Amino acid sequence: DVRHLQGFDHHEQVWLGRDTARGLTAIVSVHTTVLGPALGGTRIWPHTSFESGIIDALRLSRGMTFKSAIAGLPLGGGKAVIIADAKTEKTPAMLEAYAEMLNTLQGQYITAEDVGMTLADADFLAERAPNVSGTTKGGSGNPSPFTAEGTFVGLKAALRHRTGSDDLAGVRVAVQGLGSVGWSLCQKLHTEGAVLTVCDLDAVRTARAAETFGATVVSGDAIIAADVDIFAPCALGGILSADTIPLLKAKIVAGAANNQLATAEDGQRLVTRGILYAPDYVINAGGVINVAAEMGDGGYDVATVTPRVARIADTLSAIFQRADSEGRTTDAVAEAMAREIVEAARK
Ligand code: NAD
Repeated sequence: DVRHLQGFDHHEQVWLGRDTARGLTAIVSVHTTVLGPALGGTRIWPHTSFESGIIDALRLSRGMTFKSAIAGLPLGGGKAVIIADAKTEKTPAMLEAYAEMLNTLQGQYITAEDVGMTLADADFLAERAPNVSGTTKGGSGNPSPFTAEGTFVGLKAALRHRTGSDDLAGVRVAVQGLGSVGWSLCQKLHTEGAVLTVCDLDAVRTARAAETFGATVVSGDAIIAADVDIFAPCALGGILSADTIPLLKAKIVAGAANNQLATAEDGQRLVTRGILYAPDYVINAGGVINVAAEMGDGGYDVATVTPRVARIADTLSAIFQRADSEGRTTDAVAEAMAREIVEAARK
């Protein structure tokens, strides 16, 4: 039943793969290949229905088109969703079946690691299928340090736009999630003198943050309302909603989490409260910029990545300025810019 998919963007291709014996139900979605081959990770997630898996794949692949277009990469948008619980249902047999599916796609989709998939899984797939990026063997490896660096320079661009200075000394930042990206972001913020408030479900991580950065630890619920200048979501999607936005004390939201706005209206809710929002797929593009470097002539060279990640700051500054001058939300401006880039290439 695809009735509730009406109203979605046109997507070039969607493949469904099923191997019940080996526990695979997979959806590969290619939103567009106008700018280049469709790249995006494979997410392993226990969706409760096939429809919600498809909707997830469609949204995520469209998001990858926007992310790569805005980052100036010669890549289209794709994404795959395997419907399974990565902790209990991910098996070598399932990944083998998925590799066979990738083999049938004739190179139209380039995959990488995403939620539920590890670098070891990417290596496993790469031994069996083409177009697996972000592997540790000859690939670009862990994207998180680059995502963190992009988020850091993007956060500073937001601070500069808001206050005229990007000096972080004494600036109060709340970081939600101390995983690969959040921890690395905290290190950078701490080095430049920011005062940190943090939360994580993992008490070991929060204790380490208190010890290492002198961070104040708060509960998951309290981080939204923390008395800070900047809120940096680095854990969950959907964190900015009609329920949470009224609680924010921060005047800037700049973090790495994907899909931060629960609904399209939440961008306007932030503007109404005078909060500057750095669109998630712009500020967190460091990882895809790193993966894309694998595809240049001569193979992966980390030296080409750093200056490209640094440009996230300029891109965000341009979005902030355009949002001000056009009286639009930053997420609306980012999407318009991405669509303009794709349409110009299509023409
Ligand atoms: P991760 O899994 O390493 O870390 C996530 C952390 O968030 C974990 O420590 C987890 O315990 C914590 N967490 C989960 N739910 C929480 C909650 N309710 N409250 C507080 N903490 C919670 O993930 P990551 O790679 O650091 O990615 C973080 C976010 O950034 C995700 O939304 C991811 O999609 C996004 N992102 C990551 C990359 C990348 O390169 N890793 C790239 C783009 C976007």
